[in-house]
Amino acid sequence: MQDTPPSVPDFTQWPSFPFEGDLRVKQLDEPVPVEPPRRGEGHRECTACNAPDEAYIWVGERWRVRAMDRPTGLPMVLILESRSHLDLGDLPNLLAAELGVMTVRLERAIRSLDGVARVHVNRWGDGSAHLHMWFLARPYGRLQLRGTFLSLWDSILPPISEAQWRENLAMVAAWLAEFGGRPLAEPPRIQWQAPSSLAAQSAGEAVEEPEEETASVIEAADEIPEAEVAEAPATEDPAKASTPGEPEEPEEAEEPRRTQAPT
Ligand SMILES: [Zn+2]
Repeated sequence: MQDTPPSVPDFTQWPSFPFEGDLRVKQLDEPVPVEPPRRGEGHRECTACNAPDEAYIWVGERWRVRAMDRPTGLPMVLILESRSHLDLGDLPNLLAAELGVMTVRLERAIRSLDGVARVHVNRWGDGSAHLHMWFLARPYGRLQLRGTFLSLWDSILPPISEAQWRENLAMVAAWLAEFGGRPLAEPPRIQWQAPSSLAAQSAGEAVEEPEEETASVIEAADEIPEAEVAEAPATEDPAKASTPGEPEEPEEAEEPRRTQAPT
């Protein structure tokens, strides 16, 4: 390991880089010989496997989609998860093919929201062993948010309004449900109260808080070094739900086996 960190790279001067001022590159720790288990690995419980359908905005037979527990800076941040406890490289062909279909479908649904220019699709997987793909919507016209720093901007920008967020969630859930599965996100309720009581009302109506929350992409455990979160039970696990669910309904009938791969 070098004693003097290298100078900061050119991207710190890019318009999309969220910070300015004097920066230093951190020293890297020595690599560990054996990496600690992720959530859902070794002795660690799997948050995704333990989460009920009501923690999601849409559920199908083999896939589920969830949101953060509250609005963040981007117009939409969603996570696509397999129901099966598998990581990306372990998906059998059926799920691998469906992942492609679901990725395209979800991208299209999010991109159809007002004010969304692009949807960035990411998979990190350093926090949880259970496959989860991130979908981050980049607001239209915000050229400075283009590219890989978008996940940082999500935590920097002021959160979008609760009503807009819920409406967006409901639209995406309804879009997905057009193809099957069950939408669980509902549009915001109409507020009939006088304007003066709206603030109190909407505060009181906030969704039931899940025990563990994910506030944003970057604050998800994926981005926090394991050593710092492992013993902190309150730290996030990818979000649960944004919206309370409806009573269980029978799932759609077992789908017939599909072709092994898209053609
Ligand atoms: Zn799992």
